[in-house]
Amino acid sequence: MKRLIIPVIILLSALCCNSQAQTFSQYFKPLTLRIDYLHIGDINNDTYVFSSYAVQGAWYKSKVNLIDTFEYGNQKVEVFDLSSGTLIYRYTYNTLMGEYRTTEAGKTTSKSFEECVMIPMPKQDVEIRFYTRKQGAEYEHKYTIFFPVKQKIASLKPQCKTIDLHISTDYSHAYDLLIIPEGYSIQDSAKLLNDVRRGAQAILECEPYKSNAARINIRALLSYSQVSGISRENDSTTTRNTILGTSFYTLGTERYLMLENIWRMHDLCAKVPYDAILIICNTHKYGGGGIYNWYATVSDNVYFDYVCIHELGHSIAGLADEYYTSEVSVQDFYPAGTEPAEPNITSLVNFDKKWKNMLNPGTPVPTEVDENQPELLGVYEGAGYCARGLYRPWLHCSMKEIKYNHFCPVCTQAFNKMFDFCTK
Ligand SMILES: [Zn+2]
Repeated sequence: MKRLIIPVIILLSALCCNSQAQTFSQYFKPLTLRIDYLHIGDINNDTYVFSSYAVQGAWYKSKVNLIDTFEYGNQKVEVFDLSSGTLIYRYTYNTLMGEYRTTEAGKTTSKSFEECVMIPMPKQDVEIRFYTRKQGAEYEHKYTIFFPVKQKIASLKPQCKTIDLHISTDYSHAYDLLIIPEGYSIQDSAKLLNDVRRGAQAILECEPYKSNAARINIRALLSYSQVSGISRENDSTTTRNTILGTSFYTLGTERYLMLENIWRMHDLCAKVPYDAILIICNTHKYGGGGIYNWYATVSDNVYFDYVCIHELGHSIAGLADEYYTSEVSVQDFYPAGTEPAEPNITSLVNFDKKWKNMLNPGTPVPTEVDENQPELLGVYEGAGYCARGLYRPWLHCSMKEIKYNHFCPVCTQAFNKMFDFCTK
């Protein structure tokens, strides 16, 4: 019987992939439509304002998995075929704006942020819907664009040369990671090459990136800045004219190294395949950041390898910070009584959706800390910037503390599921 069953399963899955690929060609051209918009708001309200369309390049992402089933992001875009009303594309993501809304400043002052989404180029007229949700709440439909396919859209030109650091397969079936050097002047070109290679090596030598290396591609842009260094590196006010405008003290936290010029960042990446972006900043000052399906940053500090893989954990796999002791500027990031969207922390409000089925039978929930068994999968209190009420799967995962190549089984599974989804 085994001989019969296996070919049938293979045939069924091949048919399934084939029909999804047909869905792509039925509704989309193999191009990326980029939609730039402003997202304006504070803790209570947010609005979207359309800015422009552009053709970013080919469609580099999966042509099979077009509907995001993870829903980790607090922002969501959905595309509907206008004539039939069919949902044909969904993508969720987080943004700096979403974090700003939870800061002290976000309580009183409305602020505008550049944002953009990429969708496959529709063949017929479509309705594009934008949604926002607060942590733990349902998505709210905020904004709609009707996209007529008749209109002419300019195609962006490549702006930088790229170099291949690790190419395993074609972009449609790979998880494509793009490294963007930031704050390197032309005099720093040797260091730039060295740092992007170190970045690729840090990623590929860490599990579970390592065991997925055959479906990961890594490229780097040769992006040079006018000057060396990073804004607000030496003090909280001095800025530098770098290619992306990345800066320390983002949202008031010194080590939080982020940028607001999202449109500029994606302009630089025109015609280059990427599922995720890692920005390597030319400074020895400790810092970094990572936002789901948005971008990640790292500086050339003593923990470089660790920060690369930790921040990409946020931006690739939608992982939460498992730590709860360091200072952060966000407040009540996970409101009491709600279940966080991220896969690796839980409030126990809906633990069934999390790693309950991975626990050994009889594991107490919550689990008492036993430093003699640091790799015992459990439900340990303290995670997501809260000492109480939020729980993590391991005592010392790479999402909790400075430990390279030490992701817990829950984080590992989240990476693997994301690589499965994006490389079909
Ligand atoms: Zn973990």
